[in-house]
Amino acid sequence: MEKAGIVFECIRCGAKVPSEEIELRGGEVKCIICGYRILKKIKPPVVKRVKAE
Ligand SMILES: [Zn+2]
Repeated sequence: MEKAGIVFECIRCGAKVPSEEIELRGGEVKCIICGYRILKKIKPPVVKRVKAE
């Protein structure tokens, strides 16, 4: 769980992809929206478990 909280951002469409999502999909770093493979690592928002809307 050392990677928990890391979020990747797709440089193509800007989608935010949490590392949990990456692991659910077999560990391949890939945009879940457009499938692009180049994501940059960003810090997660300071928000905790609040639903952002
Ligand atoms: Zn994308």
